[in-house]
Amino acid sequence: ALERDVPRDQRPRYLRAGCRVVDVRLHGDRVWLTYFDRQGEVRFLLARYVVMANSKHVAKYMIHDLERLDWDKFNAMHQLHTGAYVVANVLLDRRVQRDFYDAFLIEDETFPMTPGDFELNSRVVDMVSGHYAARPRSRGVLTLYWPLPWPSARFTLLINQPWQTYAQRLAPQLHHMLGIVDVPLSAVRQVRMTRWGHAMPLSQIGMIANGVCDHLRRPFQDRVFFVNQDNWLLPAVENSLLDARTVAEEIANRLG
Ligand SMILES: Cc1cc2nc3c(=O)[nH]c(=O)nc-3n(C[C@H](O)[C@H](O)[C@H](O)COP(=O)(O)OP(=O)(O)OC[C@H]3O[C@@H](n4cnc5c(N)ncnc54)[C@H](O)[C@@H]3O)c2cc1C
Repeated sequence: ALERDVPRDQRPRYLRAGCRVVDVRLHGDRVWLTYFDRQGEVRFLLARYVVMANSKHVAKYMIHDLERLDWDKFNAMHQLHTGAYVVANVLLDRRVQRDFYDAFLIEDETFPMTPGDFELNSRVVDMVSGHYAARPRSRGVLTLYWPLPWPSARFTLLINQPWQTYAQRLAPQLHHMLGIVDVPLSAVRQVRMTRWGHAMPLSQIGMIANGVCDHLRRPFQDRVFFVNQDNWLLPAVENSLLDARTVAEEIANRLG
């Protein structure tokens, strides 16, 4: 489905979806990748160039010996802070009539306004219409974003039966949200909840001027390139796409 709207000669013929890369290391004039395929088998791949399109708070642990080989880059990656999000996709067997893209669930004056408030009373904040582009006739998807913007938030995803705790806290919120879009509970086919849903880079003043973004964006050892919203600490699809185009052109030129 991803390929449908892409010109035939630009389709990603070699896309391997569902694979998780765990190690990226230099190997002569190539880059050696280790990944788990979708069956969980360990696989290797030797590449001329690599584009790391994932967030840098993960990438910095994947690149072998990064700290020694490129301390400035490693240090820049460490200065980057991200906010954790739980993401839930609610699959519906009914069309959602209400036309919206993102409903910001500010509700009332109890909306948490500080990290401390969120720690006491975190909740789903964005309800996005996951079917927005396709508009299927008899189905719908609601994508729910649940921010965890306090310093120790990631621990709540790891300890004290986190899966069950978050699922139980999600249930009443989901009832409420279904009411907003006027969809009955019986239309819910499945809820897919992702603990490590979608981290958001947090911008800080001065990170462009002090050169941190330059170190984040530039390639590692001229072979490993970086494309992600956190290249600029800016959570927007536009800068991700611009950097993707720049890097694609750069690599195409080198490959000749
Ligand atoms: C709540 C929320 C709301 C947002 N709303 C908007 C909005 O309205 N408009 C907007 O422009 N932007 C929005 N953003 C920002 C949005 O995240 C970006 O626009 C877009 O997703 C950035 O794309 P990306 O390719 O840079 O990163 P991502 O979409 O994060 O892609 C990174 C990919 O890397 C994969 N990955 C990670 N580790 C590995 C690994 N080891 N091996 C293989 N793959 C791996 C991940 O699975 C993921 O698919 C929002 C973000 C959040 C959190």
